[in-house]
Amino acid sequence: MLTKEQIRARAGELGIDLIGFAAKDRFEGQPPERDPKSIFAEFETMILIGRMVPRGSLRGAAEGTTFASYGNFGCKMLDDQFVATATYNLVRFIEDSGYEACPIFPNPFAINNMGVPVEPGKPAPNVTPDFDYAAVACGLGELGMNGMFLSPELGPRQRFQMILTDLPLESDPLYDGPTLCDRCGKCMEACPLHALDLGKTETREICGKVFVCGSYDNTLCRECLNGGTPNRLHPKGEPDRMAAACNRACIRALAERGIGKMNTGFVPLKDWQKDRKGRVL
Ligand code: SF4
Ligand code: SF4
Repeated sequence: MLTKEQIRARAGELGIDLIGFAAKDRFEGQPPERDPKSIFAEFETMILIGRMVPRGSLRGAAEGTTFASYGNFGCKMLDDQFVATATYNLVRFIEDSGYEACPIFPNPFAINNMGVPVEPGKPAPNVTPDFDYAAVACGLGELGMNGMFLSPELGPRQRFQMILTDLPLESDPLYDGPTLCDRCGKCMEACPLHALDLGKTETREICGKVFVCGSYDNTLCRECLNGGTPNRLHPKGEPDRMAAACNRACIRALAERGIGKMNTGFVPLKDWQKDRKGRVL
């Protein structure tokens, strides 16, 4: 039977930066519209794979001079080509061993309930698993106060896709290293629109780990002129904050503590700010 070690080795050959495994029991209690079982009832293991958003893809946004590098290499092509190709090839590797492997793209929750249930008791399409929950359940890291998933290797700089398989494998241990988010508040301070409120919190419990996250005003984030963009897949989806001032500040704060730091020397991602009308502050 295929082992985790064999899958990890193949993932390394495919250029996958992060990989984690969670057995089905870690998803007990998920609502049907987010439950992996609603997609693949016989699944035994979830495998989450991540590839790096290059620090350099954020450089143009940090300088305020070009945003296309992130849009292509850190977002669209990374999701649609680089991570997707690695996911497809790992799916092929698992299926070549005789197990079914179901690839799942990180679509926004906004595409839930776009159809009708095909039989009583089934959720309406589209079921969309919770990738933040999955990343914690697969032992890859934790949620920050900014609500973004943080890994010890890359901070917030990764994009994930998912594989559900009927190959039974043991769960990886949950992350129990040093706390990644130290509640420094730099993400909130960096937003000129005050769209992130770390005082207005929501608590999330994932596999027994508790995370306290601040709240965003998504109406403001969808208009962000500081590097944020509306969700590219659905207008009501979560805005993309990877290149935004709030997340650049978080990357910088984490790097100062050695998280997601470059080996060749750290050039800080800069601060600049615009108001809602695009005036430089
Ligand atoms: S900037 Fe600080 S408070 Fe905000 S998510 Fe990052 S580490 Fe946490
Ligand atoms: S995405 Fe833009 S508007 Fe939203 S919190 Fe970040 S910097 Fe502020």
